[in-house]
Amino acid sequence: MHAIDPDRDDAPMFSADAFRLGADDAALVTWARRFGKRVLAPRAAKYDRDATFPIENFRDMHREGLLAICIPTKDGGLGADFRTYCMAAAELGRYCGATALSWNMHVSSTLWSGALADDLPMSADDRAAHERRRRMHYGRILEQGAIYAQPFSEGGAAAAGTVAFGTEAQPTAGGFVLNGKKIFASLSGAADYYGVLATERAEGAAASRRNTIYLAVPANAPGVSVVGDWDPLGMRGTVSRTLLFKDVFVPDDEMLMPRGVYFEAATRWPHMFLTLSPTYMGLAQAAYDFTVAYLRGEMPGTPPVKRRMFPTKQIAVAEMHVMLEQTKALWFQAITEARANPTKEQILRAYAAQYTVMENANALAAKAIRTCGGQAMLKSLALERVYRDSRCGSLMLPWTAEICLDRLGRETLYEPGEKDE
Ligand SMILES: Cc1cc2nc3c(=O)[nH]c(=O)nc-3n(C[C@H](O)[C@H](O)[C@H](O)COP(=O)(O)OP(=O)(O)OC[C@H]3O[C@@H](n4cnc5c(N)ncnc54)[C@H](O)[C@@H]3O)c2cc1C
Repeated sequence: MHAIDPDRDDAPMFSADAFRLGADDAALVTWARRFGKRVLAPRAAKYDRDATFPIENFRDMHREGLLAICIPTKDGGLGADFRTYCMAAAELGRYCGATALSWNMHVSSTLWSGALADDLPMSADDRAAHERRRRMHYGRILEQGAIYAQPFSEGGAAAAGTVAFGTEAQPTAGGFVLNGKKIFASLSGAADYYGVLATERAEGAAASRRNTIYLAVPANAPGVSVVGDWDPLGMRGTVSRTLLFKDVFVPDDEMLMPRGVYFEAATRWPHMFLTLSPTYMGLAQAAYDFTVAYLRGEMPGTPPVKRRMFPTKQIAVAEMHVMLEQTKALWFQAITEARANPTKEQILRAYAAQYTVMENANALAAKAIRTCGGQAMLKSLALERVYRDSRCGSLMLPWTAEICLDRLGRETLYEPGEKDE
């Protein structure tokens, strides 16, 4: 059961006219919205209830081309840029948060190695090797529907960007030997490749964040295992279990970026970490859509009782509308200006946008439950899932709500290198 009448096309979150989108970008985002409503929404409750990975959705996304949304057109993909991808992901998040968030992990592997890497400095040799390797990764996705995950978190400060990753890749003939552990690995057990961040470290050398290496580890490589259970509050379909790597040999060609380039990306293209926010922008919209449909007595699966005539309900919807518009406006600005080497003002705005989306998605869902009332939070309706899923947004490293505030405060008051006496 989902929030909106299945036979009616939903209004876009960002209409092409109002937000001045190009025709191609608008068409891709419309396609994602219709796919979300037609394919994802009817299946979302089942994956949430069972906490199983929505593999069917990924097979359909492969058939319909969506796994290749950010693969450059010259390599056979749809060539969506950062902003178009973000809007498409938000539209999917409206209908199934867990699928949108898992899809983000997959798509980021192609966006970061694609359009983002094209913006970063590399030697001619590195560029040529990178183009050759990424064509191999993209070929797997295009031809076989391969799914890539993005397990970075380790339970310490590394995923927050402050220390080197504890997962280590020791250089060896023809590749690396990988050892370590990743927690909260969305798509664990379902992905074909895990896009792992590890510290490249030769025997006896010191660990450094500059030596972060980004490797696609085949899920079936000897030494890779998935452990632990998965029974969380929300985002249950992401199946984010723990990954262990024990002496896993990873060939050189599995590098998703040349040596040193991930560190450059994290420094020069900081909006790359905003890619976790679109899912939650979609959930914010879903909470609002639900409330309007419910109060109008138009929620499929419920009696056609109208509740819109009560002034308190009208005020609550008005407040939700204001919060949603504020969230959309700030987020749209941030995803529009994302680029290499942004200004300080743009970076601070990106933190503010991430914070706002992650906090407001859950605030809107909580308000939707209070406003719609007890019958609206039954498990037969989508709202309680939206509420639980949206609670996860502010926890996502590296830009958790806390870290965004932390950096906003510090970077507003201190210029780089400034210290107090
Ligand atoms: C549904 C869901 C799906 C997820 N999927 C993925 C995924 O696919 N891939 C992935 O990599 N991660 C994923 N995550 C993990 C997520 O990004 C976090 O890593 C995870 O929630 C961290 O949990 P924690 O309790 O260790 O966090 P915390 O304890 O809050 O933080 C972890 C560590 O980071 C450091 N830290 C925290 N705050 C700061 C700060 N202000 N400054 C400096 N250091 C700080 C601390 O050392 C802390 O111990 C997912 C999380 C959820 C909820």
